[in-house]
Amino acid sequence: MKLTKVNHIGIAVKSLAEALPFYRDNLRMALQGIEEVVEQKVKVAMLEIGESKIELLEPITPDSPIAKFLEKNGTGIHHLAYEVEDIEAAIAVLKAEGSRMIDETPRNGAHGTRIAFIHPKSSNGVLTELCQCSH
Ligand code: ZN
Repeated sequence: MKLTKVNHIGIAVKSLAEALPFYRDNLRMALQGIEEVVEQKVKVAMLEIGESKIELLEPITPDSPIAKFLEKNGTGIHHLAYEVEDIEAAIAVLKAEGSRMIDETPRNGAHGTRIAFIHPKSSNGVLTELCQCSH
């Protein structure tokens, strides 16, 4: 298993319309796109910084995990995502070594990625995503 970089940092926001101008206009990050990921009940804006990205997450339903996160913690950093070369292999290795996975099989993320979350109990309280790009 090999992590290749920090792919992105996920930030929970109440509203993309309110949060986006800071990143796009004040910090001058390039907006890669906005996409609804229905499976995860979020609207996602991806902004580029060099090889990494900032992922802004807005809930699209009241039962969205992001809506629950916002209720508990308010807006802020939600998760860290590391890029892996082979997500199935990474999940298998982590499970074999005793890590708890939220996703035991990869699910679809934004922009054609495949993702899996490691349980915060196995990652010192930091919600950690593994992410494999489609290309
Ligand atoms: Zn993410």
